[in-house]
Amino acid sequence: MDTLDQLTESFKRFPGIGSRQARRFAYFLLNSSPGFRSTLAQSITNLSSQISQCDTCYRFFRKENGAVTCPICADAVRDNSRLLVVEKDMDFENIHAMGVFDGKYFVLGGSLPVLAEDPARLIRIRELVARVEKGVQEGLQEIILAFSVNVEGENTAQYVKKTLEPMCERLGVSVSVLGKGLSTGTELEYSDDDTFRSALENRR
Ligand SMILES: [Zn+2]
Repeated sequence: MDTLDQLTESFKRFPGIGSRQARRFAYFLLNSSPGFRSTLAQSITNLSSQISQCDTCYRFFRKENGAVTCPICADAVRDNSRLLVVEKDMDFENIHAMGVFDGKYFVLGGSLPVLAEDPARLIRIRELVARVEKGVQEGLQEIILAFSVNVEGENTAQYVKKTLEPMCERLGVSVSVLGKGLSTGTELEYSDDDTFRSALENRR
């Protein structure tokens, strides 16, 4: 396999990118300036050295002073009693930028297709259980599931609820989901402030 094929194969692994588009990206790079290519290559290399994954919420954050916990999880001013669980980093980014939630977050790392065979391989359910156990010692009272309004999102919510319920009942923690306001097919990544705020207020 030559370099062009290798690059094409790499681009094919990007979300929503098929063979033809992957090939187009590879040719785009060939036609780009050497400066552009080396900046891009350097940015990719820097991902490893400059970005960390938080040991508590699993979102990616800028590495500073060797911290393993992100500034949001480490923030003593934020409300420890509420934990908002989202599917992916982009959902977290959008919701956090709205500034309508002042609790803590958890990034589940995906969603579950109906009849998924090994859910624990697709989402961070074990990590979430551990996070809840630890959270209770710091005053956690409510877990809010903020997933996309589609079949996968609803399936994920059901699975997470079912898994957490026995533990939450024992620990006195409630589990809620976003309420009406978000229309069917809504991806939280694209949701606007007003819609999200109303869905958060009307959680059930
Ligand atoms: Zn964190």
